[in-house]
Formats: sequence, structure tokens, C-alpha cells
Amino acid sequence: MTYDGLTYDELYEKNRRYLWNPFTQMKEYLADDPVIIESGNGSRLRDVKGNEYWDGVSSVWLNVHGHRVPELDSAIRQQLDRIAHSTLLGMGSVPAILLAEKLIQIAPKGLGKVFYSDSGAEAVEIALKMAFQYWKNRGIEGKKTFVTMREAYHGDTVGAVSVGSIDLFHQVYSPMLFPSIKVPFPNVYRNQYGNTVEDVMNGSLRTVEEVFQKQANEIAAMIVEPVQGAGGMVPMPPGYLRELRKLCSTHNILLIVDEVATGFGRTGKMFACEHDGITPDILTVAKGITGGYLPLAATLTTDKIYDAFYADYDEVKTLYHGHSYTGNQLGCAVALANLELFERNNLISEVEQKTKDLQRFLDPIHSLAHVGDVRQSGFMVGIEMVEDRATKQPYPWQRRMGVRVARRCRELGMLLRPLTDVVVFMPPLSSTREELQAMVSIIQQGIADVTEDSELVF
Ligand SMILES: *Cc1c(COP(=O)(O)O)cnc(C)c1O
Repeated sequence: MTYDGLTYDELYEKNRRYLWNPFTQMKEYLADDPVIIESGNGSRLRDVKGNEYWDGVSSVWLNVHGHRVPELDSAIRQQLDRIAHSTLLGMGSVPAILLAEKLIQIAPKGLGKVFYSDSGAEAVEIALKMAFQYWKNRGIEGKKTFVTMREAYHGDTVGAVSVGSIDLFHQVYSPMLFPSIKVPFPNVYRNQYGNTVEDVMNGSLRTVEEVFQKQANEIAAMIVEPVQGAGGMVPMPPGYLRELRKLCSTHNILLIVDEVATGFGRTGKMFACEHDGITPDILTVAKGITGGYLPLAATLTTDKIYDAFYADYDEVKTLYHGHSYTGNQLGCAVALANLELFERNNLISEVEQKTKDLQRFLDPIHSLAHVGDVRQSGFMVGIEMVEDRATKQPYPWQRRMGVRVARRCRELGMLLRPLTDVVVFMPPLSSTREELQAMVSIIQQGIADVTEDSELVF
């Protein structure tokens, strides 16, 4: 099949007639001259009109080594010469086994088993079901509920939304959801506890502890993001996750760490848990696992959890969960090649080094008149715009400042996807210093143009 020769107008028309895009108000999308991507290379994307752009959010938080990486392309081609897919239900496959071994080698110490799925949301669903059934299989009744954090995002399936807490996304579905206990995230910029990092840490941890003290007998697990992603790119203060790990252990509550966004080098370590030197009971990963190539996800657990399911068949302790494409060979093959490239390119220490340069490039953005907060964890950056810096007064949501900045940046040659008034910058981990500087300059100009020039019309 070839699709060369189709014009933008023809593709636009087919999009309008047949395609419903995710997380997208189609009326707005169709009215806004949508970008239709045709190809990519390195940190760049090219649309069917021939325009080129920086991929400023790694194709929404996925991409690691850039686009069209020869090693990754050839890993898929080589796997295709063997087989594209066979099931993992009741049988094994070569790349799925080898990738599981590799994941356990690089994961926080103490995790022992890998359960695959196809997306981050599914990895979270599986984590929730495992935690729930773990207690049941051990004969401990009553531990059925989950603790999560406000503004949490764990994916869009109904279980994942039940432990999510972003009103704009989740409110409409609330009658469909199971209840969960929500505690405040330690957001140093916006919180009820105080202005210092210590105030926020201690206040937030005390809230968690109070909930645990009262309800530990009902709680199966707590689920957290080390850096809240969709909630606005907000990192936990250093040390917070370590304290939370202790609280969970003390109160006999499983800790699920959702590293779908932060995993695979994004924060400057292979996994964000490493910053605090902790091991969760269950770890969810997806996005960067295939370098941004194919849908694959995994839920990693300790052997202690696995062992609670390991029994004679008639004990009915099996984890009855799986998907048609669980552990897809093409996905596992490219994930293995992805992890090999991390080693060959020394990518983690490269990201650690370049994180400091990126911080320097971001400096001028702090002093823009309508930038309230610039948050960075490795190559994960959130720039929160406010109407009034002194009072942290947000813009009225109807003004869609994030969307307007992204639209301006598109004109300036970079594709972004904001979170309300937070400009998100998540470049591919392979981006060079020069590329990072060029991308940050566009963001700086985009924000200044939109927030400081009221004459500018979009
Ligand atoms: C993106 C994301 C998910 C959902 O992953 P999908 O692959 O989009 O289903 C879950 N948790 C976090 C923290 C994420 O950033």
C-alpha cells in the first residue's frame, strides 16, 4: 500500500469523515488547520504539507532516542523475519522472556516478576487487581480500597480513572467509578500546608498517616506518581517517596508506583524511584519502554506478591487477566533494542548531564511576567502560567492560555501539548544541547508573545 500523492485536503477530509481523535474536541481540531504528520527523524516531525517541527513533547511523552533510529528499526525488521505475534496465554515467546529478564535487571532491587500489557492504563488496571487479589489470596479480608493523590492521572480505563483525580477529565464519569481515598499531592507551589518544602512534606505525609491509622484495614494499596504528569508536571519533593514507602510498610499497605511517564530515563535515572532509593511492591511502566515505537506496558511486582498467586489450580488464586496482544513479540523486540541503546549511548548519564544545561536554558523563562512556576525533573518540564504572579491567580480557563501558547509555538516550529495553563516540555532524551536550546527559545518566545502582547490575535 502506498499513500504518497494524497494531498493535505484529501487527508483532512478523510480525517473529518472517519477519524475520531483521542482527548480531542473534534470541532476545535477540525477548525484549526490540524497538523497531519507524515514522517519524522531524530527530534523532528514533518507534516504532509512539508512543514517541519520539533517534537517538543516526545509524541506525548514516549520518544527516547528520536524517530527512525536505525537500531530500533532493524530490531523490528529482524523480529518480523521470525514472527510478529503469538500468544502469551499459557505459552512463552523468546523476546517476552528475554525482555522480562532485562527489566528485572534494571528495575529497583527487589522486583522479581513482569506482567505485560499494551498501555499504561492497562498496567495500572493490572496493578490494582493484583493488589486487591493479593490480600484475598492470603486470606486477609476487608482490604479492598485504594488511596490515591489529588490531581493524579493513571490512564483512561474505568479502573485507572477511579484512582485518578483530575476533575476536567474524570468528573463526568464519576457515577461509573469505584470510590477511592484521595489525599493531597505535595505540590510546593500550590498547597494548603505552607511555603517551605518541609511544611509541604510534613503536612502531606501527616495527612497520609492519619488516613492509614484510621483505615489501614480497608486499604489494599496506595498508588502514586513520583512526578505528577497530567496533573501539571509536579515533582514530589526529594525524600517524600522514601517516607511514603516507610508509612506503607508500617501500616501493611502495598505501594504502587506508577512510572508510566517517569520510567526509562525521563527524570535522569532509569526509574524515578531510584532518586529516593526505594522499591515499590508494584511498579507500572509503559510509554518509554519501546523508545516510543510500539504499544507495550508492564506491571512489575515483588516475588512476595507473585507467590501469593502461585498455588494449585483448584485454590482459585490465578490472576485472571490478559489481553490478546499481551507481550507482543515486535514490541518486546524493540523494547530490548531500546534498552541496549540506553547502555550503548550511556543515555542515563547523558540525560543527567544535559539536565543541568536544560535548567540553565530555562532560566530566562522564570522571569517572564506571567510565569508563576517552572518545574523540572530531568527532561520533564512544566511551566505554569498565571494571570498574576504575586497572587498566583490562574487565568480564567476559558482563555485557554496553554492551547494558545502551543498554537503560537507551532507557528514558530515546535509541536507541544499543554495541560491547561501548564506548558509541557518533554523533549526526546536523545536531544542535543543545541536542540534543547533551540526548543526552549521557541517556548520562551511563544509564552511571551501570548501572555505579553494583547494585540496578538490567534
Ligand atoms: C500516560 C500515563 C498513563 C496511561 O498510559 P497509556 O499508555 O496512555 O494508557 C498512566 N499513568 C501515567 C503516570 C501516565 O503518564
